[in-house]
Amino acid sequence: MKPPGSVLGIIGGGQLGRMIAIAASRLGYKTHIYDPEKYCPASQVSNYFTCSSYTKKKDLLKFVRSCDVITYEFENIPIEILKELSAITPISPSVEVLSVSQDRYKEKEFINSIGIRLAKYYLISSLEDLEIALNKIGSFGLLKTRRLGYDGKGQFKVSKKNFLKIWKDLREKECVLEEWIDFKCEVSAIVVRNSKKNIQVYDISENKHKNGILRETMVPSSLNKKKLSLVKKTAIKIAEKIDLIGLLAVEMFITKEGEVLVNEIAPRPHNTGHWTIEGCNISQFEKLVRVTMGLPLGSIKRNYDVKMINIIGEEFYKWKKYLSKSNYFLHLYGKERVKDNRKMGHVSVIYPKK
Ligand code: AMP
Repeated sequence: MKPPGSVLGIIGGGQLGRMIAIAASRLGYKTHIYDPEKYCPASQVSNYFTCSSYTKKKDLLKFVRSCDVITYEFENIPIEILKELSAITPISPSVEVLSVSQDRYKEKEFINSIGIRLAKYYLISSLEDLEIALNKIGSFGLLKTRRLGYDGKGQFKVSKKNFLKIWKDLREKECVLEEWIDFKCEVSAIVVRNSKKNIQVYDISENKHKNGILRETMVPSSLNKKKLSLVKKTAIKIAEKIDLIGLLAVEMFITKEGEVLVNEIAPRPHNTGHWTIEGCNISQFEKLVRVTMGLPLGSIKRNYDVKMINIIGEEFYKWKKYLSKSNYFLHLYGKERVKDNRKMGHVSVIYPKK
């Protein structure tokens, strides 16, 4: 167990890093952020900040030596470098977990190998692969880059009409072609597991996306008890089989036929778990800090029904409207510039539990 005053290193200084740092600070820990952006959201609320690139080994080594434990909010750090870093200072979730989740194909192969269902998928390394796979899945599908995709970036709806152009525009990067799922709803589970293998899951949230970007999260979801239990079991199985120590978000589709299909996993706090800050006794961010620092996990108790709304791009300028109501909780991330599709903040609206 790391005593208060210990230093938690966080790789990535975006809003997730910022909210992890705030939670760590409440428990008396110090934080050290590593991010290439000088005015990143997390550096504004942390004790120490290293501004450097994710591939600069010398700076990364110096950074990990200055920390007692490391976690991350940015998933695309080169694995070989991370392995070296983890030999100096413990990193959780582990480098093995990250190596699965940062590669879409590897992630799908892993989930499939443990008997969990996903949309049909095909590895695409050439134009020929894409043509063959498109013929197999029907008229259209979703082409996702194997690496570096987030918030709908690196994702393209492809059909037999446009696939040539899309493949060219992608400059022939390796991709995964997914069957298009006409889902009834999207849900996610946030799982936490510590080194003693104690495991907990937050109440399942229901999520609404637009153009691949999360707009709203609602808790409780509209799922019935049986489906909720299946969704939770699916998330727990993934966390156990991947030997998670830390936090993991599992995004799932519920199809019109009632099937549960996993879309993707992320071994870090997740936008669909922001509701836990006001909604629960212990937020997803504090849970992660507790696990990384070896503190007791504590319970999970949901105190409210919550609707979380993301504040995206120009919506930022309307931030004041959220301040007049006593059940609205505004979070702004301190981003330097407003940009289209950039997550600038969120607001959680709490209601008495039904
Ligand atoms: P992802 O980055 O994979 O989480 O995708 C972002 C969003 O795009 C998801 O939350 C869905 O709303 C949508 N999406 C992703 N994959 C599919 C799919 N195979 N079929 C239909 N919609 C999808």
